[in-house]
Amino acid sequence: MHAIGIDIGGTSIKFAKVGENAAVLERAQCPTPVNDPAALADEITGLLRERGWNLPTLPIGVACAGDVSNETGLVTADNLGWEQVPLKALLTERLGRDVLLEQDSHAAMMAEWESGSLKGEKSALYLTLGTGIGGGAIIDGRPYRELKPTASEYGHMILHPGGEACPCGEYGCYERYASTSALVRRAEGYSSAKEILEDVKAGKEEILPVWNNYIREVCTGLMSLLTIFAPDVLSIGGGISEAGEFFLNCIQNGMEEHAAYRRYYHDTEIRLAVYGNDAGVLGAAAAARRAWEKRTA
Ligand SMILES: [Zn+2]
Repeated sequence: MHAIGIDIGGTSIKFAKVGENAAVLERAQCPTPVNDPAALADEITGLLRERGWNLPTLPIGVACAGDVSNETGLVTADNLGWEQVPLKALLTERLGRDVLLEQDSHAAMMAEWESGSLKGEKSALYLTLGTGIGGGAIIDGRPYRELKPTASEYGHMILHPGGEACPCGEYGCYERYASTSALVRRAEGYSSAKEILEDVKAGKEEILPVWNNYIREVCTGLMSLLTIFAPDVLSIGGGISEAGEFFLNCIQNGMEEHAAYRRYYHDTEIRLAVYGNDAGVLGAAAAARRAWEKRTA
């Protein structure tokens, strides 16, 4: 079944009509209207109409960063300057039909689970390392957030009590240390993770302590997650995972430093996510399709 995936980012809104096996059949994109949710809903509606994508037979999923609840239909997103915006209502009023809202990092997991690195898995964890940290869990063949919409906020596990202040109101959250933006913040003179990685791969001495410490931070959080979930598979996505095998090796070596990992969790397979920049649109479509099929089953 085809589905429409929409990914609302801080600078642009991406659209895709998605077929079987995550095949993108058509794409579109428009700039994100800043601080104006009604204008954003108008943009989305206009584009769907123009493309003829608002068919009653197509599930529509919308992925967005921040606190996103499909149940209440509300979104609070720092990157958009939104506080409790009724996105679902704004869209359904205009479209005359229902849409599914999904948090972007959880949407990415849904794409990986439907047809990517987690395909067919019954016990799995997904983590995205980007501006923040998010993800999800598949427990007993079901996304855990379907049971608890507030679950899987891995970025806000407190790993450094009394540590760096986090916008969530706590101190010492995982994402303040292990997100890609945390890495860039700690690497003086660098403006992107890409630049850092290039120098790390080239063996540039000055950056290695920052990088090694970053990998330690990432692995410490992963270790805690393994002790809770002991999944068969752990998949890592987000910008940094595009560093591929090199990054995966760093993580695997970092995990080996943990005695509990060596002893109990060695059989958890660590993989990289496969969908990169398309994860949001693919995941929004995957989540919408799943909800649609459950409803009509
Ligand atoms: Zn936090």
